[in-house]
Amino acid sequence: MPNFQKPKGTLDILPDESGAWLYVEDIIRKQAELFGFSQIRFPTFESTDLFCRGVGGSTDIVQKEMYTFIDKDGSSLTLRPEGTACVARSVLENGLYAGAMPIKLYYLSNFFRRERPQAGRSREFWQFGAELYGSSGAEADATIILLANSVFKRLGLRNIELKINSIGCPECRPVFRAALRKHFESRKKELCDTCLGRLETNPLRILDCKSPACHNIAKEAPATMDFLCGDCRAHFDKLKGYLDRCGIVYETDTSIVRGLDYYSKTVFEFVNDSIGAQSTVCGGGRYDGLIEELGGQHLPGVGFGMGLTRLLQSLKDENLLPETGTLTDIYIAPLGEVARDAALVLADGLRERGIATEMDLCDRSLKAQMKYADKTGARYVLVLGENEININEAFLQCMKTGEKIKVGLSINDIMNNVIR
Ligand code: ATP
Ligand code: MG
Repeated sequence: MPNFQKPKGTLDILPDESGAWLYVEDIIRKQAELFGFSQIRFPTFESTDLFCRGVGGSTDIVQKEMYTFIDKDGSSLTLRPEGTACVARSVLENGLYAGAMPIKLYYLSNFFRRERPQAGRSREFWQFGAELYGSSGAEADATIILLANSVFKRLGLRNIELKINSIGCPECRPVFRAALRKHFESRKKELCDTCLGRLETNPLRILDCKSPACHNIAKEAPATMDFLCGDCRAHFDKLKGYLDRCGIVYETDTSIVRGLDYYSKTVFEFVNDSIGAQSTVCGGGRYDGLIEELGGQHLPGVGFGMGLTRLLQSLKDENLLPETGTLTDIYIAPLGEVARDAALVLADGLRERGIATEMDLCDRSLKAQMKYADKTGARYVLVLGENEININEAFLQCMKTGEKIKVGLSINDIMNNVIR
């Protein structure tokens, strides 16, 4: 038996939900533009090397979550699991650094990771992401955080908390990492299997392990704040100052380390604990070494990825999604062949003038047509029989009030009687 069902962990976004998605995406686009960010679109699949080098070999993504396949010419391709490496590649490949600086880009894209599907975690998911290249100042970090925050604010979300941390730079992080490794080494027997592996490759990740045992050991671990070099400390203090002055509430949380290897200095998360275990709605930070990692010159960057499913769930929980539905102004109900011919032309003319118009396409009875118009929320119905065509007049019925207005069968006359 062939299997025609959608693959495990994928989503259909059906008409009764897509209105909410469009509403959210619209606000996101407006906020991004308000901050001077332009949209970028990049390929759905890229060379596998891009993610192995760009995302970092010790991450969950590279180790187990990528959808990788060998193309017919033998090259290895991967469905994009995240956007930062894609944008970095595009910035480099297209020489965007030669244009206006800083480079400010955003995307609304789908990504693919082979994870265990659960609430808030699917194998194909959508992110709003923003990337800012060419500034190493804390005001760039602040701007990125303000952009994410402005989306939450515009949407009216209240149950969302900002957590920030600094994980240092290539100068001070090795000392911190060594201290962490020493701490976890001494409690090796209590660590979960995943973290035993992380002990060698990336001990920072143990800090955000969700297993209770590791969590307890992590609580007693050395804190990154005590290891920051002067530059990293000053950067972090400056960022906090900016956030304070903008009235942004945040908490410094030294367990925030983020999953990807490319971060340095600032890391942050916006968390909504009421949406369940997968509570991070937005995660981001600074990645000053990424472009160099991909073979370019030094080009500091900072950005975030915001998960749209988790964002929509947050909005649903707080009852913040507006009612959406079809926006039909006029439904034309033709009865008989002659009326149908006229209706098709009339509908097209009305749409040309910006009136959302539908008509019967199934040769149904008047009763069935009225039921359809009512169900789909059309604002007016225009019943067209042969007689109406002959006298060139018909009644425009307002579905809300039941009022019937006599109109001539010209586009202008109909338009003049539709209250918008
Ligand atoms: P997590 O700890 O939840 O696995 P992550 O560190 O892998 O997150 P990022 O790669 O930073 O997440 O992605 C940014 C955001 O994208 C996440 O905070 C989340 O909102 C969303 N996201 C990530 N993976 C998924 C997924 N599999 N399904 C739905 N949303 C996701
Ligand atoms: Mg993940």
